Amino acid sequence: MIAPGAVNYAGQADPPPADEWEAVVIGAGPAGAVAARQLALAGRRTLLVEAKSFPRHKACGGCLSAAAVAALRSIGLGDALAECPSRETRAMEIWRRGECLRVPLPTGLAVERATLDERLAAAARRSGAVTCFGTSATVAADLGGQRRIVRLNDRHGNTTHVAARMVLAADGLGHPSLGEFDDFACRVAHHARVGVAATVDDPRLAESLTPATIRMVVGSAGYVGMVACAATRVNVAAALDAALLKRCGTPVAAVNHTLAQACRPLTIADGPAHWVGTRPLTQHSSQVAGERIFLLGDAAGYVEPFTGEGMTSAIQSGVVAAELAERGITHWSAELANAWQARYDRHVRPSQRVCSLLAWLSRHALAADVGFRLATCFPTIGALAARHVNFGHQRLGEKLP
Ligand SMILES: Cc1cc2nc3c(=O)[nH]c(=O)nc-3n(C[C@H](O)[C@H](O)[C@H](O)COP(=O)(O)OP(=O)(O)OC[C@H]3O[C@@H](n4cnc5c(N)ncnc54)[C@H](O)[C@@H]3O)c2cc1C
Repeated sequence: MIAPGAVNYAGQADPPPADEWEAVVIGAGPAGAVAARQLALAGRRTLLVEAKSFPRHKACGGCLSAAAVAALRSIGLGDALAECPSRETRAMEIWRRGECLRVPLPTGLAVERATLDERLAAAARRSGAVTCFGTSATVAADLGGQRRIVRLNDRHGNTTHVAARMVLAADGLGHPSLGEFDDFACRVAHHARVGVAATVDDPRLAESLTPATIRMVVGSAGYVGMVACAATRVNVAAALDAALLKRCGTPVAAVNHTLAQACRPLTIADGPAHWVGTRPLTQHSSQVAGERIFLLGDAAGYVEPFTGEGMTSAIQSGVVAAELAERGITHWSAELANAWQARYDRHVRPSQRVCSLLAWLSRHALAADVGFRLATCFPTIGALAARHVNFGHQRLGEKLP
């Protein structure tokens, strides 16, 4: 059992989880919080397990695409979103070697991830999901009858086991909770960059950004995104070569190195901001479903660059995987695993291929020059890319037959 006195994000004692659950959802990012809430709303006994205490910093630019905003509102999470301080985003500026390409975007929102995730987890809890923070989950590879066994390790070093009719792994890049499964082994791209991000409180930086615009700055060893998410607060998120990070010594130095290569003099002050990093960004599992288990959000796969699809895909996958899991709780059949795999392959993989192409372009100077010139001369290219970014994953969330 979880040690009495374990504290959740709201500062309340977590109740010890019962042994038997209809669903255990691992990870309280957007994918897990949305899935847990959907299952709880459907009346299913749901445990949402999260390794960190909330609010926690998460490496993210915090840009919710128009499609992500629409998806949250359509499932009744508009109020949770409205509780987050935010700024509208209506365009993206891409800076490279002193030149700027401006691409209009359907209206989205920039938020602070720590706040968004806390609000989504709170919504799951209000809907009846039991939340268990500061507890890391591992799924046993062997089935325990018609159930999955999940091992829980809390921050005090206590271990307990719970059983679930369905497990939803929404534990982000590399899905650490599934380390015992060969079927879900992750393939990491050899060129994968790593992510670093922070929200910085800097009035000078916030003022220097074009209003309602995401600034993307492309350098030779990665790229940096910046967007205002509140009056003086700016989300700074970068995907950088590990070698650059090592050479520069700190994330802020590597970010400033990239900014200096590509746009007007602009630096991030080396202040008290909390920088967080990631595992290699581009990795995926070819299999995203197994018996009584679904992988969703980044746990299923993520392909850089970050183009605003990450959270859209996480939210949509939370909705659909929860619907399939609900059927699996009533009656498991291999058809359900096939259905999730097919939907993922059909609606997520194609846009991952587009992202791979963009990442390739960003690593090859000559190709990037040509791409940049073409997009400057033919603005339709930018508009098409923006459409892809915003609506590429929309069909993932369509109602199941
Ligand atoms: C630098 C950077 C910038 C980005 N910018 C954007 C952006 O602007 N817009 C956008 O849409 N996307 C962006 N993304 C992508 C986006 O952050 C992800 O796609 C999104 O967070 C995926 O959500 P998720 O719920 O699948 O996983 P996550 O948000 O990663 O959540 C997974 C959760 O699982 C928990 N966990 C891990 N292991 C365990 C375990 N064993 N047991 C229990 N809990 C566990 C983690 O603590 C975490 O809270 C960016 C990514 C990076 C790296």
